[in-house]
Amino acid sequence: MISVSLLSAYDYCARKLFLEQVLKLVVVPRDVVVKGSIRHEVHDKISKAEESFVKSIKKEVSHKELLDGYKKSHSDILKQSIIKNKNKLAELKISLLEFFKNTWPLVLEESKDRAFNVHTFIKKYKIYGDELWKELSPKIETEYYVQSEDLQLKGMIDKLEIYENKLVREVVPYELKTGSAPKEGVWPGHKLQTGAYVMLLEKNKMFVREAFVKYLDINEARVVVMNPFLEKKVLDTRDAVLNLFKNKEIPVFCDNKNKCNSCPLKKKCFDEKFINHRMSLLS
Ligand code: SF4
Repeated sequence: MISVSLLSAYDYCARKLFLEQVLKLVVVPRDVVVKGSIRHEVHDKISKAEESFVKSIKKEVSHKELLDGYKKSHSDILKQSIIKNKNKLAELKISLLEFFKNTWPLVLEESKDRAFNVHTFIKKYKIYGDELWKELSPKIETEYYVQSEDLQLKGMIDKLEIYENKLVREVVPYELKTGSAPKEGVWPGHKLQTGAYVMLLEKNKMFVREAFVKYLDINEARVVVMNPFLEKKVLDTRDAVLNLFKNKEIPVFCDNKNKCNSCPLKKKCFDEKFINHRMSLLS
């Protein structure tokens, strides 16, 4: 089973994926692993705290009050996780304050989404406390793990809106992305990744209403429409990645000079002697 993130990596440059994953030219730095695990812990705690937070709402509140409540709760969770992991961060010489500043924008996104969601629901149905939690729809999950033996794919969806109804679980997945957005639509790798998540959710008997890539820097959610071509591209790319790992044949250079110019592996990638040596160690 392979991770969905490898599909977009393959789509970007198959050779780069090979250098990273087969020739092991890139070892994920420990600071990236530690930062990732703390962020995962924070989002997990935020999801777990949602029920008691919503149940504590006993009367009509303004959107601002709700947002302030979420921001306070979420920033406390983030601070507690940073303090809990302070020794690991100190070992890696990562400043606690810097880590907070860098992580807060993504956490704040969650505060805003959840406040908007709950406020809209209260305005419409005027219910509070336990009843509000019971009826609240959608409920929001973050870092939602999904896998399928059939598809031989697995992955973690950044955000999932879940609409429970008696017959089927309806969902809306979101991939959250920093960095530039294309003028229109979404980048091809993001489309592929989101398409794969839609297929995984459907395999897990959920009905996907819509799927989005949200570009955080411009605060815009752009829709990804599923169709048979995208489905085929997901499956073809999955097979190509599996073959890449099985056959261990190095792919040709990609045909986009801009990608190569900004590639951290460029020097090694173009060093024929080095590559031949590393390839010989595989056999
Ligand atoms: S230098 Fe170019 S061809 Fe080589 S791995 Fe990087 S992007 Fe791919």
